[in-house]
Amino acid sequence: MPRLCALLSSCFLLLNIADAATVPLATLITHGPRTLRRVALTFDADMTPGMEHALQTGKVKSYDNVAVRQILRATHTPATFFFTGMWAEEYPTPARAIAQDPLFEVEDHSYDHPGFEQPCYGLTSIAQAQKAADIEHAQAVIARLTGVTPRYFRFPGGCEQAQDLTLVRGLGLIPVDWDVISGDAGQSDPRVIIRNVLRQTQDGSIIVMHSHGGKAPATALALPAIIAGLKARGFTFVKVADLLNNP
Ligand SMILES: [Zn+2]
Repeated sequence: MPRLCALLSSCFLLLNIADAATVPLATLITHGPRTLRRVALTFDADMTPGMEHALQTGKVKSYDNVAVRQILRATHTPATFFFTGMWAEEYPTPARAIAQDPLFEVEDHSYDHPGFEQPCYGLTSIAQAQKAADIEHAQAVIARLTGVTPRYFRFPGGCEQAQDLTLVRGLGLIPVDWDVISGDAGQSDPRVIIRNVLRQTQDGSIIVMHSHGGKAPATALALPAIIAGLKARGFTFVKVADLLNNP
């Protein structure tokens, strides 16, 4: 999968010096400035037709990890949530509460979480012609249910092609992935998640975690030690928009 930022000395600099309209179209944001001791915790709220089926059949009780935001609120930790449209439809009340909480920020993670490039961790594929409609569908659903219109878009699975970056920019959104993989997806041992985050995080990092529980069962168990550990190292938590100086 193309990671254009890896080819650039600093993707952030391109964003920081200008507003989104002047950022090169094929730029994927993976972190903020490396000069300030600030980091962004981000939580993806995935939902796919398969996950919805698991809910309907009772195989999975909930894809809303309430404990994640309880911990964030109790510790006054700002965070950014990337909602799929389907997740917001499934959980409209918490979706709105998150969006209306000044501690948090809500952004776009597609409507039903397809892989924009294949293969992508088993995610379903989506035709090029359908991608814009998927993103705009999510924008409309999130805006209607939460009252907030996202400004950033995160590719499901972090899978994208160069033309997808241009597509997202063309829709008026800024593509934002991460530079720190917590590894909470499929991980039941919180110690592994804590270690992953504390080892990788540096100034300006964007940390990806998940707030849907299910196959990310240990996120909330790891979160208190991650927050405390990064604070102890002098990091300040900010929302993505603040990290990118675009509040
Ligand atoms: Zn996702």
